[in-house]
Amino acid sequence: MEIKTFGVIGAGQMGGGIAQVAAASGLHVILNDIKTEFVEKGQQRIIDNLQRLVEKGRLAGDEKTKILGRITTSVHLEEMSSADFVVEAASENEQIKFMLFETLDRVCGDHAILASNTSSIPIGRIAARTKRPDKVIGMHFMNPVPVMQLVEIIRGLATSDETYGTTRSLTERFGKTSAQANDFPGFIANRILLPMINEAIFCLYHGVGKREDIDTVMKLGMNHPMGPLALADLIGLDTCLAIMNTLQQGLGDPKYRPCPLLRQYVEAGWLGRKTGRGFYTYDN
Ligand code: NAD
Repeated sequence: MEIKTFGVIGAGQMGGGIAQVAAASGLHVILNDIKTEFVEKGQQRIIDNLQRLVEKGRLAGDEKTKILGRITTSVHLEEMSSADFVVEAASENEQIKFMLFETLDRVCGDHAILASNTSSIPIGRIAARTKRPDKVIGMHFMNPVPVMQLVEIIRGLATSDETYGTTRSLTERFGKTSAQANDFPGFIANRILLPMINEAIFCLYHGVGKREDIDTVMKLGMNHPMGPLALADLIGLDTCLAIMNTLQQGLGDPKYRPCPLLRQYVEAGWLGRKTGRGFYTYDN
């Protein structure tokens, strides 16, 4: 299927990155969020990212203008009616995603593929909210999207071969490599990553080590590019907690219980980089 118009729901750190790579690949992009200020913030982040590439000599100035010219913004889901492919990258909350897929199913053309960038919620559960479960798929980008090579593609039970093929081709068009995962909570990436991050938070909670020491052990000892606590701050502590909750509920094993310290930080509104405070503090 030929994709010309690409919708992105949610203009946060993931949605903005996805819109940027899609527009850079030549697609016309509609970037949607619930409030004008949120889409404007997402758009500004894209402008800043592209400007940095221009300054480093990795992107021509006129190419930046062309990429930005392909992105339109929206605060009305009805405007997704012209999209051939939509990626939902709204907050990691099952009820929000259910509502979005029900609405997108109603407003989008029959041919449109509806993908979710969810970190952990089973695709089949989201697909069941639509009348097109064969055209629903997981397209899980990594953070930061313009930099990271991988897209984890998740097929729900009903996802068709055609939908999978189109999603894989799109991944390649974006210059990325895909890995295929089956539809279990957390898929491959977060089934492995989040329990490690959660254990690092338990180490801090139990006083096994200070935050810098925990991160240094994993960086220098295990050759991880970032320590797990700094990575949790980058992902967003609300997203980390939501993923742990999905793993615990979906797999029923107590080993996935979220650390109480993670829950406490989220309740305090300390969500990591995006709020300026998490395990570390940030000058936003
Ligand atoms: P974020 O908090 O930065 O952004 C979420 C955006 O969704 C916000 O701008 C919010 O206003 C918007 N939103 C909420 N409800 C909406 C609605 N009804 N309609 C339109 N927009 C809505 O979160 P994020 O880190 O960008 O994560 C987004 C999704 O991507 C989540 O499902 C998350 O699990 C997934 N994800 C996150 C990461 C990561 O490292 N943060 C990595 C891979 C996947």
